[in-house]
Amino acid sequence: MKIKSLLLLTFLTFESIFSQNIKSPSEFLGYEIGSRFTRHHKVVAYFKYVSKTVSNVQLEKYGETNEHRPLYLSYISSQKNINNLEKIRKANLSQTGIVAGVSKNKTAIVWLSYNVHGNEASSTEASMLTIYDLVTTKKTWLENTIVIMDPCINPDGRDRYVNWYNQVKSSPYNGEQDAKEHDEPWPGGRANHYLFDLNRDWAWATQIESQQRIKMYNKWMPHIHVDFHEQGINSPYYFAPGAEPFHEVISDWQRDFQTQIGKNHARYFDKEGWLYFTKESFDLLYPSYGDTYPTFMGAIGMTFEQAGGGRGGLGIKTDEGEVLTLKDRAIHHMTTGLSTVEISSKNAKKLNTEFKKFFDNSNLEYKSFILKNENTDKTERLTNLLDTHEIKYEYVSNGIVKGYRFNTQKEEKFTTSDDDLVIHTNQPKGKMVKALFEPKARLSDSLTYDITAWSLPYAHGFDAVASKTKVSSSKNKTNTIDKTNTIDKTAYAYISKWNSIEDATFLGALLQQNITPRFSEKAFSLGGKSYDSGTLIILRNDNRTANFDKKLVSIADQNNRNIQTVATGFVDIGLDFGSYSVKPINKQKIALLSGKGTSSLSFGEIWHFFENELKYPLTILNSDYFDSVKFSKYDVIIIPSGYYRSILNKSTLDKLSTFVSSGGTLIAIGNALNSFAGKKGYALKSKELKKDSTKYNLTPYADQERKNIKNLITGAIFKSRVDVTHPLAFGYKSDYFSLKLSGTTYSYLENGINVAYFDKDTKNVSGYAGSKAIKNVPESLLFGEEQKGQGSIIYMVDNPLFRSFWDNGKLFLANAVFLLNSNKIK
Ligand SMILES: [Zn+2]
Repeated sequence: MKIKSLLLLTFLTFESIFSQNIKSPSEFLGYEIGSRFTRHHKVVAYFKYVSKTVSNVQLEKYGETNEHRPLYLSYISSQKNINNLEKIRKANLSQTGIVAGVSKNKTAIVWLSYNVHGNEASSTEASMLTIYDLVTTKKTWLENTIVIMDPCINPDGRDRYVNWYNQVKSSPYNGEQDAKEHDEPWPGGRANHYLFDLNRDWAWATQIESQQRIKMYNKWMPHIHVDFHEQGINSPYYFAPGAEPFHEVISDWQRDFQTQIGKNHARYFDKEGWLYFTKESFDLLYPSYGDTYPTFMGAIGMTFEQAGGGRGGLGIKTDEGEVLTLKDRAIHHMTTGLSTVEISSKNAKKLNTEFKKFFDNSNLEYKSFILKNENTDKTERLTNLLDTHEIKYEYVSNGIVKGYRFNTQKEEKFTTSDDDLVIHTNQPKGKMVKALFEPKARLSDSLTYDITAWSLPYAHGFDAVASKTKVSSSKNKTNTIDKTNTIDKTAYAYISKWNSIEDATFLGALLQQNITPRFSEKAFSLGGKSYDSGTLIILRNDNRTANFDKKLVSIADQNNRNIQTVATGFVDIGLDFGSYSVKPINKQKIALLSGKGTSSLSFGEIWHFFENELKYPLTILNSDYFDSVKFSKYDVIIIPSGYYRSILNKSTLDKLSTFVSSGGTLIAIGNALNSFAGKKGYALKSKELKKDSTKYNLTPYADQERKNIKNLITGAIFKSRVDVTHPLAFGYKSDYFSLKLSGTTYSYLENGINVAYFDKDTKNVSGYAGSKAIKNVPESLLFGEEQKGQGSIIYMVDNPLFRSFWDNGKLFLANAVFLLNSNKIK
């Protein structure tokens, strides 16, 4: 990966010629790019400086991160284009049908996104070199091209890495792979503040960075999008074209232009003798990456990967004995960035005509997706997501629809009612609608590095139908729900439903404000209305304080809950409010394990869920002192997915067992279950994998990788059965679609309750599952409770919060925390 001097020399020469007008990054910063990592605020300072110094660059702040670092976009073009930015933007959107009118656009729009993974830190350094080159030596390209640069998508992650590196590095840097400066500590700088991988979050937009960026992205709808990354230190540079599987919405033109871009890069790389590869490893299927999301929105979306990442530092010896330097890494990324702008500028007209064609969605197989509006909170959560992507939806206006029913996987007649949602594919974002909603994505190849199923009706838990004929619909809702609450000082109790995250957030708020609610373990009816099990009952008798009614109504209003009042606890059907099965819910003190051994992603999902959705406090514990924590201080302990061989040792498992016996709730998720299976005091048992009967490996060498995928499930959807009489399942129906992320399975609990499980006929309803791995899923556990003494252990085999987009799993976790042992006073 040594830089041959030619390109660098050219670059430096230009730098000095133009230095009288504008400072280069090194002149501005006082050091050569690559000799240090630039902290985010200094990067921002350089972009601000450029936009103040030259009039053909505009800077726009579009948001802020969780840690309050600013997010910026820089628009770089000719003076004429910059003066007409808004006009060009609208003309471009008019080609897609998103805005009315038929203005022609001839300007190419290229969007370059840097450093989505915080510790892949060379690209933000490259962004400064790139903008400098664009405004000094590459002005001709800007005549017909607007370059939009996001110098750092993930500044919180970047600074986490850079600050750590600066603290531990030797001077001069040490290239030995063993050196501490190449061993980033947990959780690393890759993810954002909540440890989410922002390069998995584009479509789900669960994170603040994604939400703000996607708003800007959809405002512009660029023709080209590049996401700059880094990979292992020994890999050659990777650029487009991508690897199979390609999602079927990808057009021939998108495939073809990726190749043209790749060939243009190759010219520069060949000249310098740099190694590169294309067409391998990085596929274009899962819709939530920085390459696929733009692709499904009509752009040529690409990932470029440079060797480096969290191990790279300022310089590291590769296995081939060469020194890979930050300087080289930055120059490579600058080269591909500039080459992308060059080829786009050369093809500006064609980019626009082909972009326009992408938005003809009249031939998509499914014309309408219809989703039952059985749960207004769920419907609202989904429409909020659609709004984020500016995907249009309407409401059903006819009775019976025929189509593929997601719940049964059959063609069926489906009775709709007013206010059921309809999302048509014949709209500008139709291909994204297809990618997000279709029951199964077509897989041209099962070798992929991510999940192969994500269909939103399953993820959000909707009874839904995919129809091949367009369903008639209207733009307006017919019903609006009155959510005004009134104080009734004579009420015996207030009642509130329980079937959504919003209900759990409301409960959390009540507990934090010292209101004690109860929940009914049985369904009941009262005053002509029926209530499901799990319904919250807030009794006056439990809350004899002066402000009770006012406080309760105000919390209900703030949480947009509709609470009803009743004058008696004597029910018509079911059990009265004084019954043992109407259980009090006490404030729960919750601890969450984090640190080395923990999957940072799983920990982050739980942390984010509690802080941003439930808005309920957690105490975060670290794995290095977990064994010395006094567990009895907590009501609930959550162990995220992870590998805990040394952390969950015998003595800690015994301590946890005592914690449970004395009334605690222990929740273990995903891989964490391995640490409990087969251990003394725990009922969980791994399911024996069926052994392969062939003794010798006669698979040809070239097919080994494919042979191994038979053992894998990397994200496929399976239907489970749910015991809805158990509090862990309150708010659910008797079927739940689970996203299975691994082939590891567990037997049904013998001494415990199998609350959700896969029965003997279970198969994957969507996504790839290896032919061997799939055999272990039938008759295995999904979610179970092992009762022990006063408390219980909740085993969650599949992650109920995956990437926070598996929305329908979240209430299981809220139930586990609030409904299981919360009536017990320890
Ligand atoms: Zn990356």
